[in-house]
Amino acid sequence: MQLQTYFELINRIKDYLRKDSSVVTQRLNIPPPDVIIIGNRTFWRNFKNIADILRRDPKHMIMIIAKELGTAMIIDEEGKVVIFGKKDAASIKNALNYYIKLYVTCPVCGSLDTKLVKERKITFLVCEACGARSPVG
Ligand SMILES: [Zn+2]
Repeated sequence: MQLQTYFELINRIKDYLRKDSSVVTQRLNIPPPDVIIIGNRTFWRNFKNIADILRRDPKHMIMIIAKELGTAMIIDEEGKVVIFGKKDAASIKNALNYYIKLYVTCPVCGSLDTKLVKERKITFLVCEACGARSPVG
């Protein structure tokens, strides 16, 4: 086999794998927020699980979602989130969807297979499916 042919083959396999992985992430199963209200606090019990699925920094998520909810949020060592005030699952889900739309979804191809990269104070959403780099925030 010629070396050039070999590299072409490798590239084709890489392309195939890339496409394949984006298909998998389209099927990302994000569970609805599991919340419980106790007194004047709302406990978001599966936050860490959702942050893991989205592959996002929990602190970044909390910062944006708290702002969207118009309240303060804290996270403990176990990844459980406490929201100050009473927030129902529906409004938390709305705030989460807002985050996903702005900071996870590629505006070019719609893939959720993305990562946030910070360069010279500008945050970019880099898509691992189509390669697009879109400034966010
Ligand atoms: Zn994309």
